[in-house]
Amino acid sequence: MRLDVVSIFPEYLAPLELSLIGKARVDGLLDLRVHDLRDFTTDRHRTVDDTPYGGGAGMVMKPEPWAQALEPLLSGPERPVLIVPSPAGEVFSQSIAEELAAEQQLVFACGRYEGIDERVIEWAAQHFRVRPMSLGDYVLNGGEVAVLAMVEAVARLLPGVIGNPDSLVEESHQDGLLEYPVYTKPSAWRGQEIPEVLLSGNHAKIARFRRDQQLRRTAQRRPDLLSRLDPEKLNRADLQVLRESGYRIIDGHLLSTD
Ligand code: SAM
Repeated sequence: MRLDVVSIFPEYLAPLELSLIGKARVDGLLDLRVHDLRDFTTDRHRTVDDTPYGGGAGMVMKPEPWAQALEPLLSGPERPVLIVPSPAGEVFSQSIAEELAAEQQLVFACGRYEGIDERVIEWAAQHFRVRPMSLGDYVLNGGEVAVLAMVEAVARLLPGVIGNPDSLVEESHQDGLLEYPVYTKPSAWRGQEIPEVLLSGNHAKIARFRRDQQLRRTAQRRPDLLSRLDPEKLNRADLQVLRESGYRIIDGHLLSTD
């Protein structure tokens, strides 16, 4: 997969040289290039921002350096996806990460200050498939941290990036539920024993225990996820656990009775 990140702080993306993403780059699974937006300015001060029309606080990123930086990234046969990190975007999720992992090329445009002149988005929509994308309902200083998170979430789904692909199967959000709690050696630690069933060797019982934990944890921490579950995919044992957590199926929907 080809990834291009445009930023005024290329150094901010240095963590993408580390760990599994760094290794994927060395192994040729990821062709990740970071571009300095200031290299596409024409003035002596390498200016990328100016005051906002209409007044108001802060500065706005000028359009022309963006067009200059993005145009050379259009060499492939397909219109690439251009992800524009923004607190005003669609909220990034595991299912979006899965969608993006199927693309050949992703381009990321890291905003700073009050954001990028809106005309860049209009212009880019003629050449890219533009997706304004938010990491969550809070405001960061720039798009770089959001890009670090999105690149990691997407790249770890690519074949060969994670050593054991089974690790991707039972993770949080993979099936609309949070992951079950995990434990390692020693089995007793500071007065706490691990759940006994995990030592039983009974795979069916362990699977049932883990599924119960997933349902309970999701009910407790993320009831919004439960309300999106398809009740058709729940078996009798699942429904029993959910009843104990205060949920019932009413008119085909899983609803809290609290
Ligand atoms: N004035 C903008 C607004 O209120 O929507 C916020 C600008 S923010 C200070 C500067 C840049 O940080 C944005 O252009 C965007 O690239 C990035 N950013 C901030 N919060 C973000 C979030 N929740 N998700 C993704 N990117 C974010």
